[in-house]
Amino acid sequence: MASDRKPAIKDFLHMNGGNGEFSYAINSSNQESLIRKVHPILKEIIKGIANDPDGFPPCFHIADLGCSSGPNTLFFVSNIMEEVHEVCKEKKLKPPQFQVFLNDLFGNDFNTLFGSLPTFYAKRNKDNEENFGRCFISAVPGSFYGRLFPDQSIHFFHSSGCLHWLSQVPKDIENNGLNVFMAKTSPPNVFEMYKMQFQNDFTAFLESRSKEIIRGGHMLLTFGGRSNVDPYCNNSHVNLWELFTRSLADMVKEGIVTESQIAAFNVPTYNPYKDEVRDLVHIQGSFSLDTLDTFEVNWYTDDTDDDHGNVKARNQQSLGKRAAKMIRAGSEPMLITYFGSSAMDLIFQKFEKYMDEHLANTEETKPLLIVISLTKK
Ligand code: SAH
Repeated sequence: MASDRKPAIKDFLHMNGGNGEFSYAINSSNQESLIRKVHPILKEIIKGIANDPDGFPPCFHIADLGCSSGPNTLFFVSNIMEEVHEVCKEKKLKPPQFQVFLNDLFGNDFNTLFGSLPTFYAKRNKDNEENFGRCFISAVPGSFYGRLFPDQSIHFFHSSGCLHWLSQVPKDIENNGLNVFMAKTSPPNVFEMYKMQFQNDFTAFLESRSKEIIRGGHMLLTFGGRSNVDPYCNNSHVNLWELFTRSLADMVKEGIVTESQIAAFNVPTYNPYKDEVRDLVHIQGSFSLDTLDTFEVNWYTDDTDDDHGNVKARNQQSLGKRAAKMIRAGSEPMLITYFGSSAMDLIFQKFEKYMDEHLANTEETKPLLIVISLTKK
């Protein structure tokens, strides 16, 4: 790194933009499966609003937090509009108009997203203008750990695959040595500081949303969690970053990265246990917790469920390659900040090999997702 100043996450964290081989847009079908998985909960929320005496407002204000750039963003937007449409048809209600705010960090590739809007609008508004509420989409760049919207201006918040990203690398974990995440050899304070950072961030998230949402408004949030109370035990995320650490260690031996580069880097993510989430919602106090569920996903081994027509291509790739592409799409801008762009191909080639070995010899620990739905008191 050119200077001693620690890079700020909000400046470098974003998924790979564009539509290239390692872009998030091409490598996000797993995240799409999360949106499908929680669809029944979305449906229930929408039905609940329709059954409320106040029903839908004339203009339904929806915000998707951490929208990224790719097909998933507008996939969610179409889903929610279609559900509202269905329920309005069923109950003979006039459908609302939709104001949709797409939020992500400043470096997100909003331009690619904007480029897909004309097709989206054309499809949405063509046949449906008469009986389908019009949709107006805008972008709101900024961190969802702070304020993004005026007081009581949003009816529904959605976020999928985001809240395990922290606002910063936890403080005071310089003694984590050459680990890049919580690892078997990490000192106890590393686990504590990761946990504390998540507590602070998640609470700040709830605080900001509690001011921005209307009373009775809903939030549907899906994010990475873990199945065991022990942050080290049975955590697919830990396995993943340990394999990554091994790849980096090889590169030190080959003189491509230095130990001090590794020591300066820790991954700013945390996968909470469900009780931690429940407790934080209760302590913050602004929302009632309507649903708290967990589900496992088959991210590396499921060949059958690619909705972007990539099934053939995916089947021909090793599991390690798929995992490497997915991780690369989601973390390359961050890794370039610490290790430089010229190291990327090699890091991921090594990671791919370790991941293939790991999946061949070990029963896979499947990633666990937490989904919560909340109502503003
Ligand atoms: N919702 C999308 C993207 C998930 S990837 C989908 O379902 O496919 C996670 C996204 O969260 C990334 O685009 C990342 O830039 C964004 N993100 C992470 N931290 C954020 C923060 N503090 N504020 C806003 N966006 C954030």
